[in-house]
Amino acid sequence: MTFDIVTIFPRVIEQPLAAGVLGRAIERGVLDVRIRDLRHFTADRHHVVDDVPYGGGPGMVLKAEPMFGAIEAIEAERGRPLTVILTSPQGRRFSQADARRLAAHEHVVLLCGRYEGFDERIRERATEELSIGDYVLTGGELPALVVLEAVARLIPGVVGDEQSVADDSFSRGLLDFPQYTRPAELKMGGDDPAMKVPDVLLSGHHAEIRLWRKREAVKRTLARRPDLLETASLDDEERAILRELQSGRVAEWRNVKAGG
Ligand code: SAH
Repeated sequence: MTFDIVTIFPRVIEQPLAAGVLGRAIERGVLDVRIRDLRHFTADRHHVVDDVPYGGGPGMVLKAEPMFGAIEAIEAERGRPLTVILTSPQGRRFSQADARRLAAHEHVVLLCGRYEGFDERIRERATEELSIGDYVLTGGELPALVVLEAVARLIPGVVGDEQSVADDSFSRGLLDFPQYTRPAELKMGGDDPAMKVPDVLLSGHHAEIRLWRKREAVKRTLARRPDLLETASLDDEERAILRELQSGRVAEWRNVKAGG
C-alpha cells in the first residue's frame, strides 16, 4: 500500500517512520510512504506556502496553489488518487472502522495543514476530511501519522501476528482483555501484598483461559465503553457472558473502575 503525505515539515513525519513495526514494513516494501514537501510546489523564489487571511484576523492560511501542485505531481506519478484525506479538527472523527476501510485501498493521500488551516478551496480536491479527536493541534503531521499507523497495521504482513491485530480493542467492538507477563508474583517491597497474575492464566488450561479472556473483554467493555456493545459483533459465548453480567451482577461490575 502506498501513502503520499503532503507537509511543510517532512522531518516530523520521517522520524517516527524510521522505527518499529512501520519502519520494518517500509524496509520490506510492504508499505511505501512518500513524503512531499509542500515548499517544492511553490512557484516563487521564497517558496511561500502561506499568506494572510482575506477579511483579516490573526494567523496565516495555507495557500491553495502549492497544495494543488503537490496533488497534481502525485497524480502524474501514480494516477488519479481515489482517496485524498484532509486532516482537520472539523472533519469526521477517525475510527477503527475508517482504518479498516482505508486499509483496503491501494493508495491514500494525506494533506497536513498548519497555521489557521487550509485555504477553503483546497477542500474541493479532498475526498474526505478526518479529525483524530475533539482538540486542536498545531499541524496535520501527527494526525496523518495516526491515520497512517492505524491503517498500516491492518495491512497483512505489517504486524507479525495477524491474530494479535484481530484481538485488538475495537476490532470486533470489544476492548482487549488484560495482559500479564513474567514474573507471576510482583513484590514491590514493604508489607504490600504481592501483585499476582490471575491463577487461570498460569493453569495451562487453554479452554478456561480463552473463556476468562472473553469474559474480561466483555466486562471491560461493559464497564468502560458500553456504547461499543450496541454495534459489537459478539459470538454466542460472548453474548451469554454479556447477558449474565447484565442480569444479577449489575452492582458488581458497576464498581469496576476504568483503571482496574
Ligand atoms: N483553525 C483551524 C485549526 C487549524 S490547526 C480550525 O479551527 O479548524 C492546524 C492544522 O492542524 C489543521 O489544518 C489540521 O491539518 C491539523 N489539525 C489540528 N487538529 C486536528 C485534529 N484534531 N484532527 C486532524 N487534524 C488536526
